[in-house]
Amino acid sequence: MTRIPFIAGNWKMFKTGPEAIEFINALKPLVKDARGREVALGAPATALQAAAEAARGSSILIGAQNIYFEKEGAYTGEISGAMVQATGASFVILGHSERRQFFGDTNEWVARKLAAALDAKLIPVVCLGESLAEREKGDAFKVLSAQLQGSLASLTPARAGTLILAYEPVWAIGTGKTATKEQAQEVHVFLRAETAKLLGEDIAQKTRILYGGSVKPDNAAALLNEPDIDGALVGGAALKPDSFAQIVNF
Ligand code: PEP
Repeated sequence: MTRIPFIAGNWKMFKTGPEAIEFINALKPLVKDARGREVALGAPATALQAAAEAARGSSILIGAQNIYFEKEGAYTGEISGAMVQATGASFVILGHSERRQFFGDTNEWVARKLAAALDAKLIPVVCLGESLAEREKGDAFKVLSAQLQGSLASLTPARAGTLILAYEPVWAIGTGKTATKEQAQEVHVFLRAETAKLLGEDIAQKTRILYGGSVKPDNAAALLNEPDIDGALVGGAALKPDSFAQIVNF
């Protein structure tokens, strides 16, 4: 089964609309020869429209970093899947560990947001990852299994065709500590097997599982050459066009 690598930047709370345009205009020529991979950028809500317009005509996909699960209503400060879709964006990151840690996103909420993303025809990128304490206790696989099951609870095989998972060990995000390629590959194999139990072998083989956690130009190729690592979710190294392009062109 060939799975096209999906290389996504996550800008977090960085970049205004004009900064997003500047970045994309600089990135385009650097990734124009990248074949056989998808290039994506997760932008802040305020920069989505500008980023989507700047990316138009290129193969760069733009996405949001979160949505709320209701379609509309009195939910001050929130944005819906349809609002994201209307900007020209095509994917959404869900359940990032920073959302889980600072904004109370639970597996149940991620599952509801996943259903809302699919209703709005957005590609969902569902993030999972264990903490350092959980890994050191030997609980990583148990935690990941529970997160996967809970976060995908709203999903049926018929709706799972565009699902993307991202394994992001919390201890590797923004810390400079990367999982080794062997550690990441082992978890990806596990997550694929767990996905097969939930959604069937066919969906599991098609689902791209990204690795995230201090991916940099100098470690990207080693990770991305592992058979079950189908792309990367990149934070810090996606803030500069040069370093992000080096990862895209791994
Ligand atoms: C992330 O934000 O998802 C991430 C993996 O960040 P970093 O690459 O900076 O560790």
